Parts: sequence; structure tokens; C-alpha cells
Amino acid sequence: MDQIPNQHTPPTATAAGPNLFGETLEELRETCASSGLPRFRGDQLFHWLYRRGVTSFTECANLPIPLRETLAAQYVIRHPEIVQEQRSSDGTRKFLLRLADGRDIETVLIPSESEDEGQPRRLTICVSTQVGCPLDCKFCATASMKLKRNLTPGEIFGQYLAVQQRTDQRITNLVFMGMGEPLLNYENVMRSVDILTHEKTEGIAASHITLSTAGLVEGIRRMANEERKIKLAVSLHATTDELRRRLMPINKKHPLDEILSAIEYYYQHTRRRITWEYILFDGLNDSELDARRLARLSRRVPSKVNIIPFHPIASAYPDGLPLALLSPPRAHIEEFARQLREMRVTVMLRSSSGKDIDAACGQLAVRHADTGGVR
Ligand code: SF4
Repeated sequence: MDQIPNQHTPPTATAAGPNLFGETLEELRETCASSGLPRFRGDQLFHWLYRRGVTSFTECANLPIPLRETLAAQYVIRHPEIVQEQRSSDGTRKFLLRLADGRDIETVLIPSESEDEGQPRRLTICVSTQVGCPLDCKFCATASMKLKRNLTPGEIFGQYLAVQQRTDQRITNLVFMGMGEPLLNYENVMRSVDILTHEKTEGIAASHITLSTAGLVEGIRRMANEERKIKLAVSLHATTDELRRRLMPINKKHPLDEILSAIEYYYQHTRRRITWEYILFDGLNDSELDARRLARLSRRVPSKVNIIPFHPIASAYPDGLPLALLSPPRAHIEEFARQLREMRVTVMLRSSSGKDIDAACGQLAVRHADTGGVR
């Protein structure tokens, strides 16, 4: 289940030809070379596809017209398309995007609470990496969809492009925390990062991109070996294997010890501070003992802890847990954070952005009003 594909997913073949949207710069150069064109045509295409966001070859003004016609006869440029938008009272926006095969995914745009001259200081996009997810975390709505398929690099980068085109303000940060486990789609996620962070794209700096994982150790080690410059967050949510196994079945395969040694390896290679994500559940993982264990564990490498209030989902009464999943009262969440700070842990208390439109952490699942089903 958590094997990381080594092969690049080839451009999606359609009746009109493969989709070039999602090819990296080197791949576009290769595509041009294999069609008998000079490699610099690949550089020009890269500019038009990702910097300018064109949807047809006729818009590529500096390409000779016969070349545009040849490309249009052989290839397509296909983006995910926004088909619905919801706005939260706190400014969060949730987008439903339709893919070429009719599948849907969700993407969320979150303005920071702090402002500069009336504009949010940061504008963060939360993107999906898979249609659904196979990992079955008990607190997550996406798990109910199961895994339909991995997203291609174009479908991942396309979420950023489509949403950026819908907003006047520049998107400053990107998190891989939407639908899916990004390290199960390693190749395509990293290709989308390569496109996004390329100087020709003028997208987002690697230091403003965070990949969040449920703890896939092979992927964590691979990021370290490849010296990836993006930031890493690990969804922890429990400080004992016993509870974590129940909340996140992937813990049976990768228990805490294994995750911690992968994180130490990652830190030794990258010297980059990591983030522990910790959703608080009333009566399950919010005791003083949990805070002490969390502090001890988090200090194994330079890190910070993000405390996230639990956001209710339809199935908050999973089998195998002694209690229903509920958020502790706010005062208790603040007390838990205070205990951690007292133990010299850097703590961030995350807000519940987009809760009223089911756009908060763990709430993404594509539901259809007509059937109530997922696709
Ligand atoms: S929390 Fe993340 S890894 Fe777990 S089921 Fe949801 S999307 Fe998948």
C-alpha cells in the first residue's frame, strides 16, 4: 500500500493526444527533442504553461504559427477546472475541481488572521495529492472515499494555478494537507514541486511549501536523501502506539519508534526543523501525561508542535475507540498548550479556519448533493 512509485506517470493520453500540462522543464525539452524540435522550444512551452497559464497552443505568441498547429494536432493542455466555490465567514474559500476523467477533488485557500494594510499577511493554499486516500485515519472525512487514484503533477500544480487565477492577492504558502497521503504519490508530488518552485514559474519558494505525512518512513528518508528543500510535517495525534494504531491504522506498519528514527535521519541530513501535527480529542490524547510524552518525543529533533482542534465529521464514532471523537473545550486546549510551553516546546494553536464549510483539517471529502455519495 505504501510503495512509492518510481516511475513518472506519463502525460495523460486522451483522444486528442497526451496532456503536456504537468511536464517538468526537462521533460518538455525531451518532448520537443523527440518531435525533432530544438530543446529551447521546451523552455518556451514551460513559460506559457506555468507562468502564463495558457489553455491552448494558439495563445503561445512567440511560437511560429505552424509549430502551434503541429503541437495542437499532437498534444492537449488540460487543467483541472473549478466547478464550485464556497466561502466561509472567516475568509476561507473551498474549491471543488473537476479532473479530465470526471473525478472531483477539493482545494482550500486560507488567509492568515494577521494582516498588513488590510490584506492577510499570508495566503495559504491546501492542495490534494490523491483522489481519496487509502490510509483510513479514523478522524478524517477523506478516508471514507477510499483511494480512487493518484493525481498527476499537472493536477497537483493545476490546483494552485486555478485558485491563483481566482484571487487578486498572491498565494504565499502551499501545504500538501488536502485529500490523500502525499508520500504515497511521491514522484508526482515532487514533480509538481519542481514546477512550482522553478524560477521561470515565479510560483512559491520551497521554504514556503510544507508536505504533511501520516508517517511513511520510506518517503521521509527519501526526502532526506534527495535533500528536498520543502518543509516536513508529521501527523502524530497520539503519543503511544496503542492509541495511534486505533486512530491511524498505518501505525501498525510504521510504529512510533520507526517514525522517530526516520525523522532523526531526516534532521541529520537536512538540518531542517520539523512540525508535529497533533489533533486534540477529548479524553483520548489530551491528558497531562500525554503532554509530557509529547514534549519528550518532540524534543528528539528541533521541532514545533501544532495543536489542532478536532473538527467533527459524519462518522466520529469509529470502532475500536473507547470514546466518540470530540474536541475538548477551548479552555482545556489552551491548558494543554500551556503545559507544553512550560516544558519548553514551541507550540502553535491552529485556528479552525473554514469549519463552517467543511474545509477545516480532516473535513475534505467530495460529497454530491444528489446522492450523498463520494466519488
Ligand atoms: S488524515 Fe491524511 S493520511 Fe489520514 S486518511 Fe485523511 S487524507 Fe489520508
